[in-house]
Amino acid sequence: MKFKIGLIRGDGIGPEIVNEAKKVLDSVSGKYGHSFEYEDILMGGCSIDVYGVPLTDEAIEAARASDAVLMGSIGGNTSTSPWYKLPPEKRPEAGLLKIRKALGLFANLRPSKLYKELSSACPLRKEAAEKGFDMLIMRELTGGLYFGERYTKETDGVRTAVDTLSYNEDEIRRIAIKAFEVAGKRRKKVTSIDKANVLDSSRLWRAVTEEVAKDYPDIALEHMLVDNAAMQLVKEPAQFDVILTENMFGDILSDEAAEITGSIGMLPSASLNETRFGLYEPSGGSAPDIAGQNIANPIATILSASMMLRYSFDLTEEADRVDNAVQAVLSKGIRTGDIWSEGCERVSTSEMGDAVCEEI
Ligand code: NAD
Repeated sequence: MKFKIGLIRGDGIGPEIVNEAKKVLDSVSGKYGHSFEYEDILMGGCSIDVYGVPLTDEAIEAARASDAVLMGSIGGNTSTSPWYKLPPEKRPEAGLLKIRKALGLFANLRPSKLYKELSSACPLRKEAAEKGFDMLIMRELTGGLYFGERYTKETDGVRTAVDTLSYNEDEIRRIAIKAFEVAGKRRKKVTSIDKANVLDSSRLWRAVTEEVAKDYPDIALEHMLVDNAAMQLVKEPAQFDVILTENMFGDILSDEAAEITGSIGMLPSASLNETRFGLYEPSGGSAPDIAGQNIANPIATILSASMMLRYSFDLTEEADRVDNAVQAVLSKGIRTGDIWSEGCERVSTSEMGDAVCEEI
């Protein structure tokens, strides 16, 4: 099959980690006879250096014309880089917000998996860590409290701040459908997280999610209150498959789920719209402290490329092959510095990419 992939290498370690993911994609296309065509797209600090803005309209059009976009990371050292002397709307991160909005990316997927080989980095109790976990948080990204009406007023010398949490049923339905579809490609369980004992928006969330569930009879749906979910994530994370939740709850829970794996360089992510298009990127940032040294961990970006194969291209076997190759490399004790431990072989960014390609 033929696909066009936009590549946003970005800043810091971005180009290094994207190179390795591209190498892995080329191994996959070679093995399975697919044709992946790439187009470089500038975004972030590197775009500011050339065009004076973090994302041009032409760059958005190039992304739109691609079947999917694979991104490294953007931004620099926020204390020393001249990019951060610019007004907020001209800084590197503004490019990311702009592209998400322009492409209507409303669903954010963040898998959080504890590999047996890395369980010593997991900060949870030994019993929970030994069981391992493999979950995916599906977070609504363009509605809710962060996008509602907000203001601060002063009445009789007393200041009051107001933020509005609003969801309509269409916004809930489209993200719930994504969650059930993704669960269908995993272990077929959706845990929808809300605060339905207090919030109207959560009661509508729960009702619409149940309506959607009727179309997916082979997928189990359970509801959980957000305070309990925060607790269950550290107590018994193995119980979760797909977690479906609104914007703010997802913001908080996805960081909690990332932290309990203990290794940021291992975590991929995806942002999807209503079509098959997606923007795929590692969960970490541009790591300016280690940029240009060929020591960054490329696995999160390689796993992001695997998510692209799975969710945008529907190439399940190929995606499994990449995931299994990463697993095999870890089992052999091959590690970049961030996940290295006594007795393992320490490799560079490019050597890690080569090791994954060899397994493919
Ligand atoms: P960061 O994630 O870049 O780095 C935090 C720590 O994790 C650093 O010590 C870094 O060396 C390490 N790290 C991150 N990714 C790694 C990898 N793949 N391999 C090995 N170690 C890795 O977070 P930060 O320092 O807070 O931010 C740096 C820049 O990245 C800022 O400009 C920030 O705005 C930007 N940022 C961008 C994105 C994005 O592009 N989506 C996300 C988060 C932060």
